[in-house]
Amino acid sequence: MSVFYGDIDVNNMEPPQIMTSHTCPLCGFSLEMLEDDELVWFGCGRCLKYVTAKKRDLVAKFFDYRHKRLMWSTMLEELYSSYTSKFRQL
Ligand SMILES: [Zn+2]
Repeated sequence: MSVFYGDIDVNNMEPPQIMTSHTCPLCGFSLEMLEDDELVWFGCGRCLKYVTAKKRDLVAKFFDYRHKRLMWSTMLEELYSSYTSKFRQL
């Protein structure tokens, strides 16, 4: 999973935007998930800090082919732990 952060123009992002039950370790705001054509963005709309993952990689890793569904909660847990490990110290 590729993870980076920096200056991100969130105004260029298209919906869907999903608010998650996870909260930002820096400010307590609800973390959100967005997607564009290639990437999923997970992070804080207040701090404007995000981690990203390629959709293709997420599907390969988290799609349950037997039940034909994406394992959302598992995926969100991984994105959240990726986020907290990146930003907890800042
Ligand atoms: Zn925040």
